[in-house]
Amino acid sequence: MKKKVIVLGATGHLGAYTVDYLKDNFWVKGEGYQYTKKEIDYQKLGQKDDLLWTYEEYFNYQQMHELEEEKARRENIKIQIELHQSTKMQQDMLKKNKKLEEMSEHDALTGLLNRYSINKYCDRVFNEACKKQTNYLVILIDIDYFKQYNDTYGHIEGDKCISIVAKKMEELAGDKLMTIRYGGDEFMITGMNMDDESVYKFTKLLKEEIENLKIEHSENKVSDYVTITQGVVNLIPKRRDDTLVDFIHMADLALYKVKRNVRNSIGFYEDIDD
Ligand code: GH3
Ligand code: MG
Repeated sequence: MKKKVIVLGATGHLGAYTVDYLKDNFWVKGEGYQYTKKEIDYQKLGQKDDLLWTYEEYFNYQQMHELEEEKARRENIKIQIELHQSTKMQQDMLKKNKKLEEMSEHDALTGLLNRYSINKYCDRVFNEACKKQTNYLVILIDIDYFKQYNDTYGHIEGDKCISIVAKKMEELAGDKLMTIRYGGDEFMITGMNMDDESVYKFTKLLKEEIENLKIEHSENKVSDYVTITQGVVNLIPKRRDDTLVDFIHMADLALYKVKRNVRNSIGFYEDIDD
């Protein structure tokens, strides 16, 4: 029985040959070669021809190959989609984490950095001031008689007042200084490399501008409006001993001392008598 076979030559060409088919053996005659089916299927063939199939085998093979290719293609698309989805999920997660991190660093009411992020944002500047041996400034600011403000106008108005005061302070501090909501009605403005005169002018401006907001405060004993009291330290850190926490303590001490005397005022740590 005559059958056609396909020969894939070593050079990559495909050739069709007519062969004699005897049971499970068939013969290829061409270019001087003769192979049995077994030889064709299982042996590496000569120098020129690598594979032989009957027509049926060839097309079955081709069909199977196409199906496998299609399967692989689909699998590939599936993987790409999964990869895309997982990348997107990862990006979403990173975004969410960043947002959460930002939320944990900022105060929800004012949008200012909160006290827990002081180290993250101020350590670098403090260390730079240590290294360069220039002034480091901490101003602690407290709204005067704020408990009475809440009691008189209510907590919601109290919140509004804190927001307005915070916004004004942030605006005046600008980019050079960092404004932080230290907690409750307390704020911190901090930075480096400001001489004493500039600090004095700045704190005076803060005091005036907050009072000039003219937020009515009938229970404030020193003004008709909301006012602030400030504790200030502006010193060159001692390279080995001083830390940012020490500076905050110094400003806090200055604030505490000045508050005992008079509100709507500014106390400098350097002026405290031991
Ligand atoms: P001083 O003049 O000595 O600073 O007195 P003060 O009343 O301002 O200080 P005190 O520490 O006694 O009270 C601060 C008040 O601030 C008490 C608290 O209810 C209020 N407060 C703290 N955080 C918030 C807030 O987020 N919103 C509002 N509305 N009030 C707050
Ligand atoms: Mg207060």
